[in-house]
Amino acid sequence: MRTLVVSGSGRCAPRAIPWARLLVAACLVPAAAHAHGLYVFVSTPASPPHGLFLLILPAFLLTATAAGYLSLRRSFSAAVALLSSFAATATFWMVFLGIGEAAATMNTAPPPGLAIGHKVLWGLGWDSLGDLFLGWNAAGLALLVASHAVPAAIGKLRGLKAWSLALAAPMLAYLVWLVPYAATGAYAHGGAGGYVWRGCGHPFPILLCLYVDEHAGRLPRATTFDELVDVLLENEVIEAGDRDKLMRCRVARCFEREVRPYFWNARWAGCEAGDIPPDEIIFQCTYHPTHTQSTVRAKDLCPPRRAQGEPAAP
Ligand SMILES: [Zn+2]
Repeated sequence: MRTLVVSGSGRCAPRAIPWARLLVAACLVPAAAHAHGLYVFVSTPASPPHGLFLLILPAFLLTATAAGYLSLRRSFSAAVALLSSFAATATFWMVFLGIGEAAATMNTAPPPGLAIGHKVLWGLGWDSLGDLFLGWNAAGLALLVASHAVPAAIGKLRGLKAWSLALAAPMLAYLVWLVPYAATGAYAHGGAGGYVWRGCGHPFPILLCLYVDEHAGRLPRATTFDELVDVLLENEVIEAGDRDKLMRCRVARCFEREVRPYFWNARWAGCEAGDIPPDEIIFQCTYHPTHTQSTVRAKDLCPPRRAQGEPAAP
């Protein structure tokens, strides 16, 4: 962003506004960092996923504040105990979330961190996310206990029993709000960067062209997508080891419990590609159908059309 200012000589000269540059950089750096990969944010009571944050975040902040209040009431008046507990909880939330967001945007290949919202990564199970879930939540638990220990120390809390309550109560409030994640498998949430989403990861446009080329311009005889993969396997267009990863969209596999197969237009199975209306969709990824790399139309199976005299694509 630029503005015009009048210089000492009376001329107009452009001058960049430093805070505006910082703001733009703050917005662009995370976007650029996440564009090339799958971004993962761990589910914690301080950073719930989309669909749960309106419930879990206020409920956690309230219960942690109430838990701290119960223990601090021994040393402070009701109002001071409530304010101190709220300050400890709010400070924890801002510091923990700030550290997590910084971790997730620290470079162009950011590690998993924390953020509020985003779709749950249902497809990535405990094997992929268990360590992250335990690690970040252990850190969160320690930070919450430490933040609540500060007002307890200021209030000169005395006795093992009083200190045990002061530390265990907020700890319990934290652990309770981990139960929904552990019970449902919502260990993390996130999204796919633009380049990952665009990539989709399947080679079917090329594989179908190869098959059509080798079979006199005819499409495979397959009534379902699973059958199509079998036909391509039998014809050695794909290798057996690649079967599983070719069956479903690699991006959707991260987000869905049950991943739908690709769309295969069985209406034209076994037909000559040159006889099919050019814009007819033959194959498509059902999760992001608007992207051209995820859709194969009859005109994309081009060799038979060129053989009929149509000009080749430049
Ligand atoms: Zn896809």
